[in-house]
Amino acid sequence: MDSMSQSRMLIENKGEATLNCKVCDRSAVENDFCELHLKAYDNLVNRYSIWKKALKISWREYLSQVAKNSLTGDWVKEVAKYLIENEETKNVKQS
Ligand SMILES: [Zn+2]
Repeated sequence: MDSMSQSRMLIENKGEATLNCKVCDRSAVENDFCELHLKAYDNLVNRYSIWKKALKISWREYLSQVAKNSLTGDWVKEVAKYLIENEETKNVKQS
């Protein structure tokens, strides 16, 4: 496990003109993700639509699988972990 779960306290800081990425500290480009985490997020969503067909798992299940898969890239893992911890109240876009 890494010790870089520093970013959670940034979450309260909404409504600022310049938003930081929800996962790391870079400035966000879209959806409150920085360029890299946004890409990772897109990746996650796209891959889920494939997994869903094959495995019929829920989004949440999928996220935890991804988060502990050693083949998953770090960026994707960070986004997955973030979503697991924070998405409770939020709907993910469905395709
Ligand atoms: Zn980021």
